[in-house]
Amino acid sequence: MRQWTATHMAKLARKASIAVGKKGTDLPGQIARRVDQNILRKLSEQVDDIVFISGTNGKTTTSNLIGHTLKANQIKIIHNNEGANMAAGITSAFIMQISKETKIAIIEIDEGSIPRVLKEVTPSMMVFTNFFRDQMDRFGEIDIMVNNIAKSISNKGIKLLLNADDPFVSRLKIASDSLVYYGMKAHAHEFEQSTMNESKYCPNCGRLLQYDYIHYNQIGHYHCQCGFKREDPTYEVSSFEVSPFLNMTINNHLFNMKIAGDFNAYNAIAAYTVLRELGLSDESIEKGFETYTSDNGRMQYFSKDNKEAMINLAKNPAGMNASLSVGEQIEGKKVYVISLNDNAADGRDTSWIYDADFEKLSNQDIEAIIVTGTRAEELQLRLKLAEVNVPIIVEKDIYKATAQTMNYTSFTVAIPNYTSLAPMLEQLNRSFEGGQS
Ligand SMILES: [Zn+2]
Repeated sequence: MRQWTATHMAKLARKASIAVGKKGTDLPGQIARRVDQNILRKLSEQVDDIVFISGTNGKTTTSNLIGHTLKANQIKIIHNNEGANMAAGITSAFIMQISKETKIAIIEIDEGSIPRVLKEVTPSMMVFTNFFRDQMDRFGEIDIMVNNIAKSISNKGIKLLLNADDPFVSRLKIASDSLVYYGMKAHAHEFEQSTMNESKYCPNCGRLLQYDYIHYNQIGHYHCQCGFKREDPTYEVSSFEVSPFLNMTINNHLFNMKIAGDFNAYNAIAAYTVLRELGLSDESIEKGFETYTSDNGRMQYFSKDNKEAMINLAKNPAGMNASLSVGEQIEGKKVYVISLNDNAADGRDTSWIYDADFEKLSNQDIEAIIVTGTRAEELQLRLKLAEVNVPIIVEKDIYKATAQTMNYTSFTVAIPNYTSLAPMLEQLNRSFEGGQS
């Protein structure tokens, strides 16, 4: 009865909060937990497999990739895909999504919430992506955090899926007898940030770690005098390219993915490991891996018939340079649509475009560049100064400008600044309706 009351009050709260225009992901969980403090425990016992995804970076992409692939294989899941990754948000996901057919829960969990949530739920598997220093303000020393996580997951029979290449993550092997490792072969890829900027110490004995190969930061192939070392992974990336989307070979199987950014290769191998351990074949994983794309205008991919497009937000020189570099990685001809608005949210000063390296467009095979937005002429002038020798078309209406790229057969590279993103994305979704996006 208490459980029924808790879930019904939670659903009412969800409806009410949506009605007033809030997303309301945490609220139902907060209310239900107040009515019945065992609600999460009870609901989690109704699911066969619960997978927790944690780590400093990449947990949202990893869990979305897993969720998308399971759904692509018609498997009904619970998934806290709105990024609500603390106790209340996780409870909300169970309340709103559980049904009789639900067998698997894919739960992204904040590292700091692990001790609390593990008191209520024991997952069957946990996958860890990496541990970086950027959250030290919240957690104190990284070793303390790893030891706290180890303590809260110890002796519970949880299968741990660990990044063999991250010594902080593989340290968690002390917490379970059931271990599966994933990683990347040496020279699988030259990462953009391949340097290691500080010494890394052995999490077991405190000596300086020795590295045979570094992918980036502390991620690589390491060993220590005390015997602590990178373990041989069961699932391993042998190589991958970024062109601009990932083409990666895992255990001799090639996946042509639709996500970009070399760090996502680690998220992909983490997701792959979970899916294989859940029993999916390479062919089933392909169904998800080859169709998953971001949906927020960051390196988002579209295709329909033979036309392809990619949109990537750029609101400063670094972002613009990165977006223009993406064009270099796309083979063949391209058509660009670049938008510059100067609304309050964009910042009125658009002079930053003079710090971006538009000159590099001269080396690309471009059919046309369509400039748009409230400051389209400014972009036109900038491209003229960059001596980019291709037709430059001014169309201040962002919808029309974006739609116009469909008149070209070549690959569309769409680069909006902040307030241009929504209209450009809306038009791309319209133009590619019925295709893959
Ligand atoms: Zn050591």
